[in-house]
Amino acid sequence: MATPATVTRFAPSPNGLLHLGHAYSAIVAHDRAMRDGGTFLLRIEDIDGARSRPELADDFRRDLEWLGLEWEDVPAQSTRLESYEKAAETLLNEGLLFPCTCTRSEIEAMDPRIGPDGFVYPGSCKGQLLDPAKPAALRLDMEKALDRAGEIIWEDELAGVMIADPREFGDVVMVRKDAPASYHLAATLDDAADGVTIVTRGGDLFHASHIHRILQQLLDLPVPTWLHHPILLDEGGKKLAKSRNSPSLTDRREAGEDGQLLAEQLRLQNFPAGISLEKA
Ligand code: ZN
Repeated sequence: MATPATVTRFAPSPNGLLHLGHAYSAIVAHDRAMRDGGTFLLRIEDIDGARSRPELADDFRRDLEWLGLEWEDVPAQSTRLESYEKAAETLLNEGLLFPCTCTRSEIEAMDPRIGPDGFVYPGSCKGQLLDPAKPAALRLDMEKALDRAGEIIWEDELAGVMIADPREFGDVVMVRKDAPASYHLAATLDDAADGVTIVTRGGDLFHASHIHRILQQLLDLPVPTWLHHPILLDEGGKKLAKSRNSPSLTDRREAGEDGQLLAEQLRLQNFPAGISLEKA
């Protein structure tokens, strides 16, 4: 069988304008696809109802164009809710999900341990009779999921081959109270549906890929490789966020800056003053 052509993607959430860190991420994903004569996709991750501002998607497209990137659009997450519901039903029927009515502050009050993504859910709702009047999220029973999946591996182009071990995340949410999927479930399903062969994103999401690899196994999805790139940091060594004195790409574009020149500088890792690449 011929090796499938390389497909990468950039998957921003329309919660705010893009900044240099996003530009760097998009360029890495774009250039990785182009190196193989492949395809670079843009997917808008807009299931975060309350925080999502759909009108930003047009700014994102103008920014990518300004950077000189070419891409193909795939449907936004908000149009794919049925596929998330179906997958959640599969997991539920397999006994791998359980309902949880806890609020964030209730979980905090349980003094839980801290995992790679904040508080780790201590499992208090598992096997309990819950108040049916309270809204419930559905969580993955991680121990059961790991039992079912067995020992599986995944490969990152930079970090190499590793065993999928998402245990430290605990029982992560698959279906939110306010949305038919969590980031983990939606992104994993979409990457499969979009035929993504190399999942390219910032190293801040490295650990999440352990969860995604388990989900692929449980849902019988094709397995891509990954490319987690180092992220851009501000003066304080913190992840570059548009809220801190770094202008958004839209600001730069509207100020008449040359986007293709900026893209070239980012490729050469010639960053503006105060911005640096995370050390590997
Ligand atoms: Zn709970």
